[in-house]
This record gives sequence, structure tokens and C-alpha cells, in this order.
Amino acid sequence: MIDRIKTLLQEVEELKVANADELEALRIKYLSKKGEISRLMNDFRNVASEHKKEVGQHLNLLKEKAQQKINELRDNFSGEDVSSDDLDLTRTPYPITLGTRHPLSIVKKEICDIFGRLGFNIAEGPEIEDDWHVFSSLNFAEDHPARDMQDTFFISHDPTVILRTHTSSVQTRVMEKQQPPIRIICPGRVYRNEAISYRAHCFFHQVEALYVDKNVSFADLKQVLLFFAKEMFGTDTRIRLRPSYFPFTEPSAEMDISCNLCGGKGCAFCKHTGWVEILGCGMVHPNVLDNCGIDSKIYSGYALGMGIERITNLKYRVNDLRLFSENDIRFLREFESAN
Ligand SMILES: [Zn+2]
Repeated sequence: MIDRIKTLLQEVEELKVANADELEALRIKYLSKKGEISRLMNDFRNVASEHKKEVGQHLNLLKEKAQQKINELRDNFSGEDVSSDDLDLTRTPYPITLGTRHPLSIVKKEICDIFGRLGFNIAEGPEIEDDWHVFSSLNFAEDHPARDMQDTFFISHDPTVILRTHTSSVQTRVMEKQQPPIRIICPGRVYRNEAISYRAHCFFHQVEALYVDKNVSFADLKQVLLFFAKEMFGTDTRIRLRPSYFPFTEPSAEMDISCNLCGGKGCAFCKHTGWVEILGCGMVHPNVLDNCGIDSKIYSGYALGMGIERITNLKYRVNDLRLFSENDIRFLREFESAN
């Protein structure tokens, strides 16, 4: 029996295969339940007890070597098999399921594209900001409620390091570094200390536009707003401006567009007014220009800002803000056609 084992051992060590089928045949020949080694194991029962130890050792060695060899052969050609003549480059590929862009990204891109066509460049800034860029430079009074702990996230215990509450901080950063003409659009994420509900979230997204040059007037602002509204919501869209207040603009206004659901006739969505509010805007406050090193006697400018969630809601009727950050694939897939 030992001779038989030795012959097999030699056979195993000299094995060669050309493809997976041959390898499988060898595996069956040696290692399967009805293979050579199993057969020897069966015969092992009949070996006289004084020889069992010696025969057992040889048998175990054979089993080990055979397994090792088969594994080795498999490793050797597993890579080659793919690049053989069987490779068909004309075959239809497996269908690839593509992801979809997030609705907020779709709308952000659309807004940036519209302003891009008017010559606005994209500017970005840090989300962790200091008090100066978020509040002080933008003409917020020392006791302005927005500085309150209720509204703003502070980083550790340092009251001057905060998460930005609006993207206006990017405007400040650009104006500090660059003299007019400045024509920028700043998209980004902002943070406010709000309880999360269907209409409020602790983080959301804004886009702000800023134009500073000589002789910029409110009429220029209005023209840009009308252009934007028509591009974004359709050529039939009308706009109206209502006086408002922001610390960083004077005069300030809020812009409504004619309700794109009922065409201005009045419906539940527009609370039967025919108008829906979409953004805030105004002429940049002279104090803001001066704070950033731009001479307000020579230059003037306008700024406008809107929430991307708000615009997305108007375009796609998403009535629960939380859906935007829950990563529910059923929600995200609804925007496949908008990609
Ligand atoms: Zn309506």
C-alpha cells in the first residue's frame, strides 16, 4: 500500500493542466469522495495495526500534497483564463445601475448655470467660520438675535468660532480680497440651531449672488431677478418685490414669483394669494462695502440669496425637508429623469 501511495504522490507532484475543466477532472480524480485518496482511506481500515502508523503518515502526506497542488494550479491559471480566446469584447455588458444626482444638486447646478450665463463666477468658502465674516462685517448689530445661542451653532466654547448661518460670509471673504468689479455666486451648506421638522432643519443649502461695480442700481437687480425667475420657472413667470429688512442690504426686498402651480389664480399651495416667496435681496449696505475695504462712495452693489431646498420644493413639490437628508433611495430615484 505504501508503494501505491508513493506512486500517487509522484503523480500528483507532476500534475499539469491547461484549463479549468482539466483541473476539475483532476480534482475529482484525486480529491472527491470516490477519488483515489478516498479509496486509499477505505483500504486503510484493512491495514494491519502494526503498520497503521507508518501507512497513516504517508497517506496524510499524500492528501496534503494533492490539495496543495490543486490549489497551486488553480492560482496559476485563474488569471490567464479570462484573457484567453474566450474573451468576447462585442458582448453586451451587464446592465449597470447608475445612481442619480441628489435633487438639491440638480437645482443648485441649474441656479449656478443661469447666473453663469450672466457672467457670475462660483465662489466658495469655509463652513466653520468666525464671527467677523458671518456677522460683524455684514452689519449685524452686537445684540442682533441671529447671534444668539438659539440660532447659531458654536464650535466648542469659543464664541467667535461658529458654523456659518448663511453663505453671505463667502461674499465678505471675496470682497476682502478683490476689488470690484465682483460678480459671484456662492452655493453652500449652512447651519442653524433649529429643531428638525418637515419645514425646518439644522442644516440646509443656500445660493447667494453678489454684484459690485460702479453705478450698480436697484434696476439692475430687478432685471437679473426677472431673468432668473423666467429661466428657472418658465417664461410666463411674473415677479413682485416687497420691502423687507436685512442688516447687510439697504434697501432690502423679498421677491415673490407668480404661483407656478395655479398660474397666479390662487390655490392651496400659494395660500390663495397667487404668489410664493422665493428669495431675499437688496442693495449691499455701504457699511458692508466699507468693512471689506471697498469704497462705498465709488462702488455700489446688489446681493440676493435663496434657499436651495425652497426652490427645489417649488420645482418638485417636496413638502418635507427631512427627505433631502434621509438618503431614502425610493425618494432619490424619483429624480432619475431630471438628471
Ligand atoms: Zn397657487
